[in-house]
Amino acid sequence: MPNGPVHADAMRTLHARRLRQLIMLLLAMLATFTLASTRFLQWPVFGSLVAGMAALSAAWWRLDRGHERSALMIVLWSVTLLATAILWLRGGVRDLFVLAYPLVLVLAALTTSPRPLLALGATMAASLGLLTLAETKGWMDFTPLPTGGWSFFDRVLLLAVLAVCVRTLALDLQAAVHRAEAEGSRAKDHAARLAFLVQHDALTGLPNRLLVQDRFVQAEARARREGRPLALVVIDLDDFRRVNDSLGHAVGDAVLQRMAERLRLVVADTDTLGRLGGDEFVVLATEAGDPDALGVLAQRLLDGLAEPFERAGLAIACGSSIGIAQYPRDGNSFESLLNRAEAALARAKADGRNGFRFADPEVDIDVGEHLRLVSELRGAADRGELELHYQPLVRLADDALVGVEALIRWRHRERGLVPPSAFIPLAERGGLIHAIGVWAIREACLQARRWDARGLAPMVVSVNVSPVQLGVGDLDARVAKALADSTLPPARLQLELTESSLLGDASPLRDQLIRLRALGVGLSIDDFGTGYSNLGYLQRFAVQSLKIDQSFVRGATRGPQGEAIVRAIVQLARSLGIRTVAEGIEDPETARRFAALGCDVGQGHAWGPPLPSADFVAWALARSR
Ligand code: C2E
Ligand code: MG
Ligand code: MG
Repeated sequence: MPNGPVHADAMRTLHARRLRQLIMLLLAMLATFTLASTRFLQWPVFGSLVAGMAALSAAWWRLDRGHERSALMIVLWSVTLLATAILWLRGGVRDLFVLAYPLVLVLAALTTSPRPLLALGATMAASLGLLTLAETKGWMDFTPLPTGGWSFFDRVLLLAVLAVCVRTLALDLQAAVHRAEAEGSRAKDHAARLAFLVQHDALTGLPNRLLVQDRFVQAEARARREGRPLALVVIDLDDFRRVNDSLGHAVGDAVLQRMAERLRLVVADTDTLGRLGGDEFVVLATEAGDPDALGVLAQRLLDGLAEPFERAGLAIACGSSIGIAQYPRDGNSFESLLNRAEAALARAKADGRNGFRFADPEVDIDVGEHLRLVSELRGAADRGELELHYQPLVRLADDALVGVEALIRWRHRERGLVPPSAFIPLAERGGLIHAIGVWAIREACLQARRWDARGLAPMVVSVNVSPVQLGVGDLDARVAKALADSTLPPARLQLELTESSLLGDASPLRDQLIRLRALGVGLSIDDFGTGYSNLGYLQRFAVQSLKIDQSFVRGATRGPQGEAIVRAIVQLARSLGIRTVAEGIEDPETARRFAALGCDVGQGHAWGPPLPSADFVAWALARSR
């Protein structure tokens, strides 16, 4: 980039060149006039022209010695004085040389400061004033202007010189403006690049410690105000020094760049990934709300980094270790959290690398256990470890079996039958829930058809759907496929959603629900009354039944207030044409009570617990006899 003095020099030489061209042009013009004036033998005019040429030559000489400013002044004043002399000697204010005045003024305006411009202008005005006075008073007798071919030639020549001068200067000016603009934008780019470098790591382009700290301050304010999650995850490459020492710094740099790219793929856009220096990276995690979610994130970071990559024919593998500190339990400043995360990182390394540790060792145990479960759950459906148990839904008015709810269980090799409460939340956080949920829907549809074949009266099967599944976007397609493959009529499948699934105004969720309804499957609200009491969704999605949560069912058996709540729910549902189901009815007395309250359907141990399919069939057949 050109610096100031160099640039000023360029301007000066350009200026000097232009001035030389101008002097040459003027000399040529004066020489032409001189030759022309010899024909008329106007000796004083001839003398003035020669004097003018001498002055211009002096200007040339000054210019040669580098005195550009004085050369310019000589040019301006010599042309002014020459023109003035010719006006007085020849045609007065009507002489064609009066055109030299505007030429000089334009030149002066473009090249000098206001003061010489003012002096020149004043001289010209004074000369014109005196000429007018002399003419009107009759003091002078100005020769009438020559006419004919030569005078035409004179005028055109003068105009041409004027035009060339002004045009050249205007072009120079434009070029100068462009240069200034280009330089301005270069300076701006430069400033932006500088600002970027101050806050980013030059090798990977990631935010540096300074910027991460800055973002932490903002995230901390949000975490404090809105209770949003916040944690620092510090990542260190195991044995990076060995790579650097044995393969050289160029390979070491390439490793760091590749690792940064991989981390970037795992880290959410809303989180900040930065490089703390050396082989240490950091993630400012603002999405992962609990230790399990942080554990999942840490595992994904480790997995992302673990894969070997090729470089110059070598497969380079570089494991890593992670330390995690959570705000505010482990500290509430950037420094304190970073210290705790680094200490946890040291523990992770000491415990055998390629793992992660929390600042709080108690969290470690829980999360370790949860993650083990999630990784075991991953293949559970394929290994045939998942099964559905079925619990009857009975019409309270006449005790008829009207449907079943399919409830999932995990038959674990060592742990035995694991209830959904122990693994569904983990599956939701570990990204496994959709696959499991789709399996459950499919299995329930197929099972319903097998019962039909066994001669059971056709029933509606209810399957629970996690809110997470609605966000995936292809639930309707999966449901449609399950229905098609099993040939179960859509009306015999009901999806149980929690209130929270229906609350979100996010349009993808809404669209998904609308598409599900369009398939012809039923929707039912599970655990009604435990979510938010925004009831608009009941009508919006044409919900078919409402399952009164077990806590209200228990409440109703305890006193009149609990009963009043159930009555209100039943009335509300009735007025909207929605069926009510009471969950967790454990004895015939409660069943009778709920029938009296106007509740339509009951579910609970009063009729039977959730049973494996074979047991359920036996139960249903025995009942129908
Ligand atoms: P839920 O949908 O509200 O299911 C009712 C729960 O109440 C079941 O627990 C059932 O066994 C239990 N229950 C039924 N009758 C009685 C009773 O008389 N007394 C008592 N105390 N409990 C009764 P379960 O099977 O442990 O399921 C728990 C929750 O797990 C379900 O609550 C549901 O939210 C979820 N879940 C079950 N299967 C699936 C599934 O396939 N996908 C998803 N996303 N969630 C599922
Ligand atoms: Mg349910
Ligand atoms: Mg429920």
